Amino acid sequence: MKKVGVVGWRGMVGSVLMDRMRAEGDFEGIDAIFYTTSQAGQAGPDVGQGTRPLLSATDLDALRQADIIVTCQGGDYTKDVHPRLRAAGWQGYWIDAASALRMVDDGVIILDPVNREVIDRALDAGLKDFVGGNCTVSLMLMGLMGLFQRGWVEWITSMTYQSASGAGAQNMLELVKQMGELSGCQTPGQTALELERLVTARQAAADFPVDNFGVPLAGSLIPWIDRGMENGQTREEWKGENETNKILGTKRFIPIDGQCVRVGAMRCHSQALTIKLNRDVPIAEIEVAIQSANDWVRLVPNEREQTIRQLTPAAVSGNLHIPVGRLRKMTLGSEFLTCFTVGDQLLWGAAEPLRRMLQILLGKL
Ligand code: NAP
Repeated sequence: MKKVGVVGWRGMVGSVLMDRMRAEGDFEGIDAIFYTTSQAGQAGPDVGQGTRPLLSATDLDALRQADIIVTCQGGDYTKDVHPRLRAAGWQGYWIDAASALRMVDDGVIILDPVNREVIDRALDAGLKDFVGGNCTVSLMLMGLMGLFQRGWVEWITSMTYQSASGAGAQNMLELVKQMGELSGCQTPGQTALELERLVTARQAAADFPVDNFGVPLAGSLIPWIDRGMENGQTREEWKGENETNKILGTKRFIPIDGQCVRVGAMRCHSQALTIKLNRDVPIAEIEVAIQSANDWVRLVPNEREQTIRQLTPAAVSGNLHIPVGRLRKMTLGSEFLTCFTVGDQLLWGAAEPLRRMLQILLGKL
């Protein structure tokens, strides 16, 4: 029975991964070992094998017993532990949610419905490090896979609307705390303008909770995600182009650029896309290409009722399906396409590719 170490299981990605693995019966037939960076010795989760004390996620001897390690702990953890574990001779498979190993030569970005061939080639070549893609990138590829497969995409600009949970558990808690502070400004009989003034004053108050986001997100937005790059992009924006091309293993580099924005949604990342096609493809053919690309994409007709009911974070949270809607040719020209897509960034954007990679390694997928 394979020993599978799980690190970061109580964070946002980790807890969704645990839910999915429980739901799919993934813990059956493996010996799951749980690690922690902060709670060593406390009782670990019971996944049908009883509870065992949590092991330290920085203890190399404790980690070495695992044949496969799945980590959702974050990039700092990966940068600290992965090289030391490899240097100590550990030959196991490392499956990671963090970005640290995505662009290294021996790191394979995993999104098997889109790039199973790339994954299989990497396994045949003996590669051992498999990394989930950036959440927005993975969701865009799941939604638009049909266009890429047909070679129709010349370039894309993406404008994202990314939820608080994309920044982790602490940020999610902070967003709701901020919401609570703002709803406390409401009193009976006040006008909307009076309420807005109180809300704006509360957001600016020195004791408004902003430890994690740095500024108010509730009742506002933040047009900056991740660190800045020298060329003026944020790293999140840089990932859009570079990870997409690596995942697809493109021969011709497809330019992708845009702006990434944090919004006050709880869960699910949305994006508005402008796609320059390299030919004038009829919209009916485009619809078939998108809809038939995989089992999870759902085309939403470009009309109001279905759009507001199906194409929102609130409608998609907790679901594996990827709706693509607002699809139409733009007035810019017949080769310009626009669409809007929403996906649960904790599922296809994070946990699902990891659990499926584990299934691939176990020969079950
Ligand atoms: P997170 O929620 O901040 O969790 C990371 C770790 O923080 C946990 O494993 C836990 O470690 C510790 N922690 C501290 N306080 C906690 C609390 N109140 N609740 C839960 N955990 C707490 O991070 P994450 O969003 O899951 O991200 C993990 C990695 O996945 C990052 O590299 C991120 O970039 C990547 N990723 C995230 C998303 C997303 O949508 N969030 C999507 C794709 C990739 P201990 O138990 O060891 O203390």
